[in-house]
Amino acid sequence: MAGLFASPKGVAEYVPPDSERFLAVRIALSAPARRAGYGYIELPIFEDTALFVRGVGESTDVVGKEMYTFTDRGDRSLTLRPEGTASVVRAAIEHGVLQGTLPVKLWYAGPFFRAERPQQGRYRQFQQVGIEALGVNDPALDAETIALADEALRSLGLSNFRILLNCLGDAESRPGYREKLLTFLRGLDLDEATQARAEANPLRVLDDKRPQVQRQLADAPLIVDSLSDSAAQHHQQVRAYLNDLGIAFEDAPKLVRGLDYYTGTTFEVVHDGLGAQSAIGGGGSYDSLIGDLGGPDLPGIGFALGVDRTLLACDAEGIDLGAHPSCDVFLVPLGVGAKQVLVKLAAELRMAGIRVDMAFGDRGMKGAMRAADRAGARIALLVGDREISSGVATVKDLATSEQVEVSADSLVDFIQEKLR
Ligand code: AMP
Repeated sequence: MAGLFASPKGVAEYVPPDSERFLAVRIALSAPARRAGYGYIELPIFEDTALFVRGVGESTDVVGKEMYTFTDRGDRSLTLRPEGTASVVRAAIEHGVLQGTLPVKLWYAGPFFRAERPQQGRYRQFQQVGIEALGVNDPALDAETIALADEALRSLGLSNFRILLNCLGDAESRPGYREKLLTFLRGLDLDEATQARAEANPLRVLDDKRPQVQRQLADAPLIVDSLSDSAAQHHQQVRAYLNDLGIAFEDAPKLVRGLDYYTGTTFEVVHDGLGAQSAIGGGGSYDSLIGDLGGPDLPGIGFALGVDRTLLACDAEGIDLGAHPSCDVFLVPLGVGAKQVLVKLAAELRMAGIRVDMAFGDRGMKGAMRAADRAGARIALLVGDREISSGVATVKDLATSEQVEVSADSLVDFIQEKLR
């Protein structure tokens, strides 16, 4: 039945039972980081527009074409967050946490917004789980970050993904490479907008997905050939740590990713069962973002994993995410007196940690048993006038259909024992 309204175009929405699978993915994606000392950070859904313009970069598609920007009643320009890193850094500076022990490790989860052309796996509201480690430049930390992404995906049972790795160089390597690349790009047959983009930020052009551009980039100079000694050494160490950890990766010398703040280690995770929107996550380090946003001159590294696409990847690999039934015990009141008793019993059982639902709406025995079944309950508890007068409840095992009468005062213990 069509209602009067539909969800906005391109929004990823989940209802039961799919929402249970979505939750399972989101929880799994954050679990390895939580075991590695990351603390949770709850961020605003909208921020000052200038934060993203500064943080993410004006030459990116995200800022140039995809932001949901609006003016609020106080005439401030605000933007629905298109990504998390700029907000994490802003909050870390604002709350002074970078003055303590470093690195500061933070994780976040929630919706992000980009006005993209919607298609399978690409939404205007999508969900990410992300981590950021702020304040320390250490190849072991880069490797740990990549390892946590790998572990998160593997913990779901995923295996058909690849980690692409690049190094975007440091402040010493970048200017020389930028010049070399720009000279090369100026010699190509590029449309005007792409030429302008090359002048603003030549690295952006490497990220152009159009085949006619990619073809011309075949002989583009590579950043790996322009790395300073310290950047090259750092990169080698990251690779060595990953090898030690047994984490497979592929070198992707043209990988730049869609956000301007990346420097040094950069990586993307692609899944081979997803078609065009194959990136399930990505991240890397950023040497100057914290300073650019007014904080101390410290580096950071992090990643964001796409929850929606990871769920699609689980579907593509046929992974059973073990969607849980919604309750274990289903209460069936047969009459007004019984309802009064069972409303109280439901509260009591839930207090004891048992997942309980009951039949509402006085639909009779048959409807109630169907509802119990649909909820995935293991036990139905039936109470009518007869049970009330003899102080018992009928407990029905829904797998075997066996029924027993249990006295009211031992009911909670009995059910706890039965569910064990
Ligand atoms: P990014 O913030 O661009 O580095 O993206 C990190 C991850 O978020 C990507 O690898 C995707 O899995 C996910 N993601 C980014 N944009 C979208 C989108 N429009 N729809 C669905 N997932 C997205």
